[in-house]
Amino acid sequence: WLQVSLALLGDGLVITLSDISNLMLANQSLQQRAATLALEVGIERATRQALSDEIGLREEREKELRRLAETDPLTALLNRRSFIEKANLCIETADATGQESSLIMVDLDHFKSVNDSHGHPAGDAVIRAFADLLLGSLRSPRDLVGRFGGEEFALFLPNCSQQCAELAAQNIQRELARRDLPVSETLALKVSASFGVATRRKGESLMECIGRADRALYRAKHEGRNRISLAEATVSAAA
Ligand code: GH3
Ligand code: MG
Ligand code: MG
Repeated sequence: WLQVSLALLGDGLVITLSDISNLMLANQSLQQRAATLALEVGIERATRQALSDEIGLREEREKELRRLAETDPLTALLNRRSFIEKANLCIETADATGQESSLIMVDLDHFKSVNDSHGHPAGDAVIRAFADLLLGSLRSPRDLVGRFGGEEFALFLPNCSQQCAELAAQNIQRELARRDLPVSETLALKVSASFGVATRRKGESLMECIGRADRALYRAKHEGRNRISLAEATVSAAA
């Protein structure tokens, strides 16, 4: 490449020829480099987007797996293990803030006869409907409700005294007495439940508290069912 410059000088003309080959070659090379860089940036951006999509998908999948591991498949309530895990965390907070917590163990009465009279799927439907009733009875999003197995459930009520827990159990008992639990479009069954209520003592472990609520529940069963028994306290009246 040559660059031609013309300049008038007096009554003459000066013609300058400059070899700009190196400059042109350098410019071409720079343009090529810029195009390659733009391509690389594009590829890098697409890779980063694909990676972030993949991470998002994995996080969703992990969340779903965690939810499945924490919940009981029949009722979608917390399973026993995750209920205990979460209640223990609540207890740590309660210890830090000095709040009282209470625990209610609930077991449906004569449930075997539901299965025997109406079949196992009807029993399942009753368990599901009762789980919904329990969920509907919660006072705060911090309350925990879990299925401990079969037709046995547990509620952990943070910041709840014995009186508050007894009221919560009475509400559930009243709701159960008021409505039949739907089994199919044509069948709804009346069931009752027995309750064991324990308010956590200072420094008491969750398992000790569950043990006291369990013994209270056993007493409620023993004394005729469809009643609320307070751990190491008096039994309230049948509904
Ligand atoms: P109680 O008043 O003393 O609690 O009597 P119960 O009949 O409720 O208690 P029992 O422990 O004798 O029987 C519980 C029954 O619950 C027996 C078992 O077949 C049934 N069961 C346990 N898990 C399930 C379930 O997931 N679905 C159904 N349909 N039945 C279940
Ligand atoms: Mg039972
Ligand atoms: Mg039981």
